[in-house]
Amino acid sequence: MSTSPFSPTYAEARAKFREAAAAAGATLSDYRHPERGPDDGDLTTDVAWIGPADADAVLMLVSGTHGVEGHCGSGAQVDWLRRGEAARLGQRLAVCLVHAINPYGFAWSRRVTHENVDLNRNFIDFAGPLPANPEYDGLAAAVKPADWGETSQAASRAVLRAYAREHGPAALVQALSGGQYNHPDGIFYGGAGETWSRRTLTAVFRDRMAGASDIGLIDYHTGLGPEGYAEQIVSAAPDSAEYRRARDWHGAAATSLTGGDSVSARLAGDWLDAAPRLLSHARVTGIALEYGTVESGKVMGALRADNWLHAHGDPTGPDAAAIKAQIRAAFYVDTDLWRGMVLGQSLIATRQAVAGLTKAVSAS
Ligand SMILES: [Zn+2]
Repeated sequence: MSTSPFSPTYAEARAKFREAAAAAGATLSDYRHPERGPDDGDLTTDVAWIGPADADAVLMLVSGTHGVEGHCGSGAQVDWLRRGEAARLGQRLAVCLVHAINPYGFAWSRRVTHENVDLNRNFIDFAGPLPANPEYDGLAAAVKPADWGETSQAASRAVLRAYAREHGPAALVQALSGGQYNHPDGIFYGGAGETWSRRTLTAVFRDRMAGASDIGLIDYHTGLGPEGYAEQIVSAAPDSAEYRRARDWHGAAATSLTGGDSVSARLAGDWLDAAPRLLSHARVTGIALEYGTVESGKVMGALRADNWLHAHGDPTGPDAAAIKAQIRAAFYVDTDLWRGMVLGQSLIATRQAVAGLTKAVSAS
């Protein structure tokens, strides 16, 4: 195991996280996933708590919402634990680190859960009508051809390029990544019910966050925007008190998911948007840190290849290694420069949130 806070596999990331949490004096608990990893290892969401159990304010750091993106968030969490940041917390603050909320996706190098669901399209009300995405419906066959040969891939790319020429590249991104509920074996699928990861995050909220009056949230993501830059994305609407608090804590570069200034598509069902409803007893202030990796065409190509592999191919067969390398490279840039940018911007964001929470509880 290397000394880097980052890890090449889920299993190593989990071991490093648990070791760093124990060394930092955290209490650890875990939520067991029903599936196994590619190495037949255990899959768990591990939760580390540092600070008083009855803290008035809690900062929650979450990695692996999008599985394979967990290489980034896990590294930031391990670095936070090792760096001694816990010593900077006041008497009334705690930090709750949730490692690999989608452990299956992290272990299998997938962005989705074992239900093939994008967890950040899954936090919708399944009792009501599901969001429609007719644009995706029209592209679904090109997104995931049954055959992944060169001819078939070229035909698919031609359909997607024609759509982008006619409607603009932003419209293509919106159609593909805005979320869809009609194609269970497609990409950016929101599901037909609550996933294991949604139920687990909801359980963590219930088990650990019930006593806090002020809650800060940081959710680590990769794959959108300029390489190495972490856009701070606020899910709350620009006219909300939560959005104003997030800007107050984190500064003027924070963007709004619904305000038209974010690298992300407009979407429904992300957990940061749902958190204030699930934690309605508290003031909630959340951001996603979205780190750029490679250009968006490569990211989309990797997602489609991985989607094909699990829908039509064999994830443990001869095609797997190249596609898994492709998707890891799309969501984790394997350079010291990129890793340094991850840690630096994460450290700033966590200190900003700790300062914001400290101010909130000292004023109450
Ligand atoms: Zn993500």
